[in-house]
Amino acid sequence: MTPDPIVAAAIALVVGLCVGSFLNVVVHRLPKMMERDWRAQCAELRGEVVPEEEPPRYNLAVPRSACPACGHRIGALENIPIVSYLVLHGACSSCRKPISARYPFVEALGGLLAAAAIWHFGWTWQGAAACVMLWALIALTFIDFDTQLLPDSLTLPLLWGGLIANLFGVFVPLSDAVIGAIAGYLALWVVYWLFRLIRGKEGMGYGDFKLLGALGAWLGWQMLPLIVLLSSVVGAVIGILLIVFKGRDHNVPLAFGPYLAIAGAVALFFGPTLVKGWYL
Ligand SMILES: [Zn+2]
Repeated sequence: MTPDPIVAAAIALVVGLCVGSFLNVVVHRLPKMMERDWRAQCAELRGEVVPEEEPPRYNLAVPRSACPACGHRIGALENIPIVSYLVLHGACSSCRKPISARYPFVEALGGLLAAAAIWHFGWTWQGAAACVMLWALIALTFIDFDTQLLPDSLTLPLLWGGLIANLFGVFVPLSDAVIGAIAGYLALWVVYWLFRLIRGKEGMGYGDFKLLGALGAWLGWQMLPLIVLLSSVVGAVIGILLIVFKGRDHNVPLAFGPYLAIAGAVALFFGPTLVKGWYL
């Protein structure tokens, strides 16, 4: 049974808003979980007692979300995507400290991109897979923006997810996906080593290779030149703007992941059209 396209997009919007709310938790907690893990591993390697941390259990499910300013537990009613933010006028219900507009923004992004995916690809496996890919890209974009990290716990499942989807030919034939994964990884690996040999420093991280590999696994190797081109255009423009307006030191490596992720999302929707236009 296929619902009317507008109904389908509306369902995707609501589901996407809720997933967006969860993505906020992922973006906020995953880097902290990784840090705790590293500290524990370092202590173990040095033969020290693994440090006690507060709270003792910290993952995507526990502890419950709380206001960072006053520790007020966020109840179910205060956790409705976008609506709660508007009703509370963007402030904690207990201490009235402002809540970052980032939260409703990520929720809106999760909802709107899911609706766009279902609108574009239809109420199909392709539409559902596109939603999953876009949600993962949102999480990666914001985590990389905040921490210059692209966690393996997201990039690797994204890569496998693309291969599994294309095992059933959801976007491209499996052989295009496998070659895409390999070529995406290797292309940036080569750039990385050239950069290191010539400039003697690192311009990007291994996470970027894995992300481009994942995009290749989803969209096929044919999309890789377009993704790299789009991401370097977006990256160069934003990088120059940051240096000009914020005086950012151009020796500080910029996170490349967000540009790759944005380029991947553009290629998901418009890649086939753009590539066709390119060859013509
Ligand atoms: Zn508060």
